[in-house]
Amino acid sequence: IMHQPLFISIVIPIYNEEAVLPFLFSRLHSLIQVNKNLRFEIILVNDGSRDKSKFLIDEACQNSPFIGIHLSRNFGHQAAVTAGLMHATGDYIAVIDGDLQDPPELIPEMVLKMYETEVDVIYGVRTHRKENLIKRSSYFLFYRLLSFITPLEIPLDSGDFGVMSRRVVDIINSIPEHHRFIRGLRAYCGFKQIPFTYKRDIRAGGESKYNLGRLLKLAMDGIFTFSEVPLKIATLLGFIIALFAIVYGTLLLIWRIVSNEKLPGFATLSIGMFFLGGIQLFCIGILGEYVGRIHNQVKGRPSFIIDSISRTTNA
Ligand code: UDP
Ligand code: MG
Repeated sequence: IMHQPLFISIVIPIYNEEAVLPFLFSRLHSLIQVNKNLRFEIILVNDGSRDKSKFLIDEACQNSPFIGIHLSRNFGHQAAVTAGLMHATGDYIAVIDGDLQDPPELIPEMVLKMYETEVDVIYGVRTHRKENLIKRSSYFLFYRLLSFITPLEIPLDSGDFGVMSRRVVDIINSIPEHHRFIRGLRAYCGFKQIPFTYKRDIRAGGESKYNLGRLLKLAMDGIFTFSEVPLKIATLLGFIIALFAIVYGTLLLIWRIVSNEKLPGFATLSIGMFFLGGIQLFCIGILGEYVGRIHNQVKGRPSFIIDSISRTTNA
């Protein structure tokens, strides 16, 4: 019924994934085999891997619709996805993790749904997460906090896994933001966006590249690039404390007038001093989060640098 096969790009960030790449490639090859009515372009972004990933990717790029983009060093997951999006030429652009936690086999179904219903974004929502309790609950809390403090509707429990239309990717590519939180930028674009529930698998091999520090950095980027609520916390705290000081000061004054007891004030003073000092540093820290991001943005350094690109010679 379709005149031309739908053209799908699949962007996959890869950092030290030598243990899973053989599985990933065979799953992708059979995906292409099974869906002969679709056209695929697979973009493997090697985010400065230090293991055999580069070699394996270059090998896979011979005689297949795979394109390997090697970054000059490790720039981070979001930067790697950004690099991939900038090189994707398909009409539909899917983003999946390289560790097979997001089943590539779902992509044709998602694309067909987009095609039929004229939707611009279809994003994966995890029904199950087979990860440890700490990681699961931090994710749970993070997504709820984020949706609470950002005016934008960023869907709960959805990562980068999903498919976007050409125009959405063009818009995301044109946003010159340095600290990129892709799932936020995707939501920012608007148009019609629908969820797609799926079961998130465990890693096909190797270990998670996200430790607590990296997760925290991602979470902070999400919060500080999509919300001004933290800035307002300072204003609010200042207001509440000033109000308290006025009431407390008035009470002290009245007490001084009606009784002739000496006012014992050492404890109040020292606690007040430390408390306010802490709050002031906290608020300066919040400011610092924004100022640091402005600093990085103003410097205008690229989010990623490409070393080389490998693709088949006989396409
Ligand atoms: N990744 C990357 N650069 C990094 C860290 C991770 O390209 O600095 C890739 C990684 O290879 C994987 C995806 O991003 O394909 C998601 O990472 P991971 O599976 O470690 O995260 P998790 O699923 O544990 O949150
Ligand atoms: Mg993973």
